[in-house]
Amino acid sequence: MVDLHSQYLGIKAEIDKGIEEVIHSCAFINGPAVKTFQENFEKYLGVKHVIPCANGTDALQVSMMALGLQPGDEVITSSFTFIATTEVIALLKLTPVLVDVDPETFNIDPEAIKRAITPKTKAVVPIHLFGQTAPMEEILAIAREYNLYVIEDNCQAIGSDYRFDDGTTRKSGTIGHIGCTSFFPSKNLGCYGDGGAIFTNDDDLAKQMRSVVNHGMTVRYYHDHIGVNSRLDSIQAAILNAKLPHLDEYAEKRRQVADFYDHAFRKLPKLKIPGRYPKSNHVFHQYTLVTKDVDRMKLIEYLATCEIPAMIYYPVPLHMQKAYLDPRYKPGDFPVTEHLCASVFSLPMHTELEEEQLIYITQNVLDYLNH
Ligand SMILES: *Cc1c(COP(=O)(O)O)cnc(C)c1O
Repeated sequence: MVDLHSQYLGIKAEIDKGIEEVIHSCAFINGPAVKTFQENFEKYLGVKHVIPCANGTDALQVSMMALGLQPGDEVITSSFTFIATTEVIALLKLTPVLVDVDPETFNIDPEAIKRAITPKTKAVVPIHLFGQTAPMEEILAIAREYNLYVIEDNCQAIGSDYRFDDGTTRKSGTIGHIGCTSFFPSKNLGCYGDGGAIFTNDDDLAKQMRSVVNHGMTVRYYHDHIGVNSRLDSIQAAILNAKLPHLDEYAEKRRQVADFYDHAFRKLPKLKIPGRYPKSNHVFHQYTLVTKDVDRMKLIEYLATCEIPAMIYYPVPLHMQKAYLDPRYKPGDFPVTEHLCASVFSLPMHTELEEEQLIYITQNVLDYLNH
């Protein structure tokens, strides 16, 4: 699904130099590379504060801890996504409230958010799924009306821009109160291990989150609140410093791959190409098709015999996951999510796909569907 080795070969000199510098300095934890990355990333995102941390899941957890959310508080999020968001809500003994998504963009449906609000609702966590921003203007309006925090799960859409109705743009993840990202190797901005970061324009929240990631300390060995240990290590920061300048060019490459796939599949009645939300420039973390009257497992098996990987993101709606079964929810509650989980599949999407490979992939999909 990704080709990290070829991507590495293209930027080997920069990466190797960064790693070597860290090893020579032995500043493995909170070394200069971390500070430099923080500043470079703040500049790239146009955000006041970046707080590096250990992974994207921690970024979400630290955000919710720093906001002072209390057990029983309700947090609204999407039913069609990776588990991490709901997992940290549950872990902190907050109440996850799931809502359905839009069938075109796969992102959270603002009308469904509105219907899910109760007096206990404290926050909403939109996930910018597969690489495009959720409808933030609508979500911000709801948040203002009901006095809710907005935490953006931007793990899949780093580098994507969101255009407001007045024409101004902002990087996704810098629009709500807090944004979170992951540097898991296969993410659009990935390091060579685990990593994550939190963004905010709010000085007080930034201070609070810097303390939470560092055992709740503000002054060394004085712990003002319960924290965690969540750090981005210096070697990963050096790798990210080498990769960040390429992020926009990588996104462009991904869009070209998506355009190629779109063109090949547009007219097929058995496949629906991913909808593009006009207010966001898609960075295509995944290229996800919706099948119609196709046995998708057979299709995936066929592609495997051609050595073409294909994956299902995500096969099980969150309300039907064993660990999250809850009498509040039953099958049928989230029809769009349930339909998508039963019918989507994703094709290889990365920065190193050559035209020859794209022709081979699309031709084999077409051959299977037309046989
Ligand atoms: C990857 C991902 C996460 C978790 O990030 P980790 O760094 O693996 O902890 C959270 N949310 C979404 C939407 C993701 O894609």
